[in-house]
Amino acid sequence: MKIRIVGAGPAGLYFAALAKAHDPSHDIVIYERNRRDATWGFGVVFSDRALEFLRADDEAMYQYLIPHMQSWSDLAVVHRGERVAIAGNGFASIGRLELLQLLYHHAESLGVTIQFETDIRSLDVLPEADLVLATDGAFSLLRQQHEAQLGTRTEWHTNQFIWYGTSRVFDTLTLTFRETPLGVFCAHHYRYSADMSTFLVEVDAATWQRAGFATMSPQDTIALCEQVFAEDLQGHPIISNHSHWRRFPAISNEHWSHDNLVLLGDALRTVHFSIGSGTRMAMEDAIALAKALRSTRDIAQALHLFEQSRAPAMHKIMEAARVSLHWYEQMAEHMPLNPTDFAYAYMRRTGRVSHAAIKRMDPRLAAAWEAQHPDTPAPPAR
Ligand SMILES: Cc1cc2nc3c(=O)[nH]c(=O)nc-3n(C[C@H](O)[C@H](O)[C@H](O)COP(=O)(O)OP(=O)(O)OC[C@H]3O[C@@H](n4cnc5c(N)ncnc54)[C@H](O)[C@@H]3O)c2cc1C
Repeated sequence: MKIRIVGAGPAGLYFAALAKAHDPSHDIVIYERNRRDATWGFGVVFSDRALEFLRADDEAMYQYLIPHMQSWSDLAVVHRGERVAIAGNGFASIGRLELLQLLYHHAESLGVTIQFETDIRSLDVLPEADLVLATDGAFSLLRQQHEAQLGTRTEWHTNQFIWYGTSRVFDTLTLTFRETPLGVFCAHHYRYSADMSTFLVEVDAATWQRAGFATMSPQDTIALCEQVFAEDLQGHPIISNHSHWRRFPAISNEHWSHDNLVLLGDALRTVHFSIGSGTRMAMEDAIALAKALRSTRDIAQALHLFEQSRAPAMHKIMEAARVSLHWYEQMAEHMPLNPTDFAYAYMRRTGRVSHAAIKRMDPRLAAAWEAQHPDTPAPPAR
């Protein structure tokens, strides 16, 4: 089968490797506009649960990636300068570029061709193929050219975020909230290598306006963020990688394919980074499509099967991400909570974690919350 893939992110690379490993006669080419050694962003994080899917489906890939990952067993929430550690939340992280390079190497070793520095602006420039994958990310041009047929919906959210890194190496995934005269600043930060951490700063729309970020230079933006998080950075600099303020687009598609074009990964749907699942979802899409193509050579049938098998799990995570995103949009309203209540509210933000679950994960946090609310019945999951 002749397969052409636009975008060498986790979705396209992993699908190509799975399909080629299963049938080496497939002719697969991936077009990637970036250079081999360049990408946006810093590290990405996977929850332990997010890695379990990989272990269950592809133990060899799990074993291939895991030595390159940083991992830890707790997360922490910092509010009013107090750090509340929350046990039972395992995570693993890896630099985005390192992950991509491991996936490039793996796909190429199986015989997949990757053409770097090749920007595909339209389906028309691609050679005839049995199947074309749009794995060109959230702003997929291939999707945009067929939005009407695909039923694409994009909802722009109001918070602004900027994806930075820092040389300070944090112990664990930490969400730090700092109240300033400009408003609330939140940093999502965690180490992803022995000498680097992701440091993603998020603010609500009003804070962003008051700070004047719209017209502030990149250097002044970094200086202000360094000032807000001085205690957390401990003298380490904030580092940019083409970093700029963005709003999160919640993207979904009514139809996942049109003719022989199929959407995977962020091109298909986005999930807010606060639940650390976008890369996992992209890889799960790849697994589901590869499985569907193994079960039938009929492309239309395989695409139908892909959508049918993948939709329920995908919608569940999209819903959790939607609610989590909303919690961050309301962060100023949560600030009056004391640090224990704040950490507890953070843990319950998706509505999927009951009090009983928190008790299992971290009995100390559950007990601290119970002590503060002796007359409140323990809340179930929503
Ligand atoms: C700030 C932020 C933080 C995140 N943190 C996490 C996290 O902690 N954990 C997590 O799991 N996920 C995280 N994500 C989400 C994750 O990055 C994405 O969900 C994931 O990368 C999607 O993979 P993908 O392969 O679909 O697309 P992408 O990774 O976006 O890859 C698309 C590729 O297509 C290429 N491309 C685009 N257009 C063209 C074109 N016209 N021609 C050729 N090539 C093209 C791009 O250069 C890119 O390499 C985060 C996202 C953001 C924005």
